[in-house]
Amino acid sequence: MDNSARQSLLDDIAAQVRDCSNCRLCEGRNLAVSGEGPADAPVMFIGEAPGAAEDRQGRPFVGPAGQLLNQLLLGAGLRRPEVFITNIVKCRPPQNREPRPEEITACREYLDGQIAILQPPLICLLGRPATQTLLDPTLAMGRAHGRLFEREGLSFMPIYHPAAALHNPNMRAPLEQDFAALATFLQDRKLTP
Ligand code: SF4
Repeated sequence: MDNSARQSLLDDIAAQVRDCSNCRLCEGRNLAVSGEGPADAPVMFIGEAPGAAEDRQGRPFVGPAGQLLNQLLLGAGLRRPEVFITNIVKCRPPQNREPRPEEITACREYLDGQIAILQPPLICLLGRPATQTLLDPTLAMGRAHGRLFEREGLSFMPIYHPAAALHNPNMRAPLEQDFAALATFLQDRKLTP
C-alpha cells in the first residue's frame, strides 16, 4: 500500500474518532484527539490520554509535556513532524485521571487500526498505562524503560512519560537516557531521517 493510501486510512480513523461515543469519555470532551504524523514515520509514540491543551486543540502532546517531548525528540535526531503521536484513549478523562480499563478497551480498535496501517519500525510507549496496555499489565516501568520488546513482529520500547519530568526534576536524567536508547535503536537500524 502506498503512503497516500495509508494516510487516507489514518484520516478515516480520525473521522470515526471525532464522532465516537463508544465510551463515556465522549461526554466531557471538547475535541477528540486521534493522533498525527506521517504514515511512513520511523517511530510511533503512544501516550496515555489527551490533557486540557490537547482537548482544546484536538492535537496530541501540545501542552507542557509536548514541549518537552519536542526537545527530547530533537536530542534523538528527530523532528516532531517526522513521528506519529497518539494515545491509548482519544478523549480527555475528567481532571486528567487515568483512563479506566473499559475506556481503554472501547478505544482499542482505533489504536490497533493505526498500528496496523503504520506498521512502524519502533513503537515507543510513553509511561505505565501505555506500556501495560500494549505489553503486559504487570510490567513495572522501573524494569521496562529503555528496553526493547519484540511482540508479533513489532518492536516496542517503553520510555518514561515526559510529564514525569515536569512533576519530578529527578526524572529528567532517566528520561534523557531513554531517548538516548531510542536514538541508538534508530541509528543501528539506519532509521534516522
Ligand atoms: S475515548 Fe475512544 S472510545 Fe471513548 S469516546 Fe473517545 S474515541 Fe470513543
